[in-house]
Amino acid sequence: MARVLVGVKRVIDYAVKIRVKPDKTAVVTDGVKHSMNPFDEIAIEEAVRLKEKKIAQEIVAVSCGPAQSQETLRTALAMGVDRGIHVEISGPEYDTLQPIHVSKILAKLAQEEKTDLIIVGKQAIDDDSNQTAQMTAALLGWPQGTFASKIEKQNDELQVTREIDGGLETIKIKLPAVISADLRLNEPRYATLPNIMKAKKKPIKKVSPKDLGVDTAARIEVLSVEDPPTRQAGVILPDVDQLIIKLKEGGHVP
Ligand code: AMP
Repeated sequence: MARVLVGVKRVIDYAVKIRVKPDKTAVVTDGVKHSMNPFDEIAIEEAVRLKEKKIAQEIVAVSCGPAQSQETLRTALAMGVDRGIHVEISGPEYDTLQPIHVSKILAKLAQEEKTDLIIVGKQAIDDDSNQTAQMTAALLGWPQGTFASKIEKQNDELQVTREIDGGLETIKIKLPAVISADLRLNEPRYATLPNIMKAKKKPIKKVSPKDLGVDTAARIEVLSVEDPPTRQAGVILPDVDQLIIKLKEGGHVP
């Protein structure tokens, strides 16, 4: 396997409490801590392990987003990625960027870069779309192994164990292919200080969607963004009888 392409998205850090803008058009991102999407750390780790096992020769990380996405690419480079591609998209164009656009970009880069395997996270924790792997595979006509919790190389094929409802499914897919990383695929490594220093010298190429011939015109209009309803305070009841009375009062049991 010559080359693995990994998608890495810069998202609001998973530990940050999300706030909606007063005008309800979006969530507040200014001055908020951002990090690499957690599932993408898992995707990178898997690619690095494939390289360590000499199954893959080169890993290329791709991030579509504003200038700060380069920081996310640097983290990927410090984890063991060889080079980065920053597809610069910012402002209103980024606000309406959807998985279909990212999929078209990844598909185009996969062809340009003669990629054998694309690994993305199973979902971005900001938009929760869970669409990019599936649409990228469809655009390329490649097989897909989504929600992967184990990947093994067997001759020219990959055996992928998938987390599905009620159990695990093991499938065999031919390369080139697209995989999406689930939580239990691996435990991503931390970037060590020497590797962070080394990553500063690794190349990041900057391109625009136009360079790739991808149209990122808005296909959706956000009508409003709302906070989830605030949870009502709980009560502690003295015994089960009181609980049954409460449940009956609330119409929860007949
Ligand atoms: P989604 O389909 O939006 O839930 O995203 C699934 C996966 O696609 C993410 O975990 C990333 O690996 C990849 N992806 C989504 N958006 C981007 C982006 N802007 N740049 C790079 N990769 C992305």
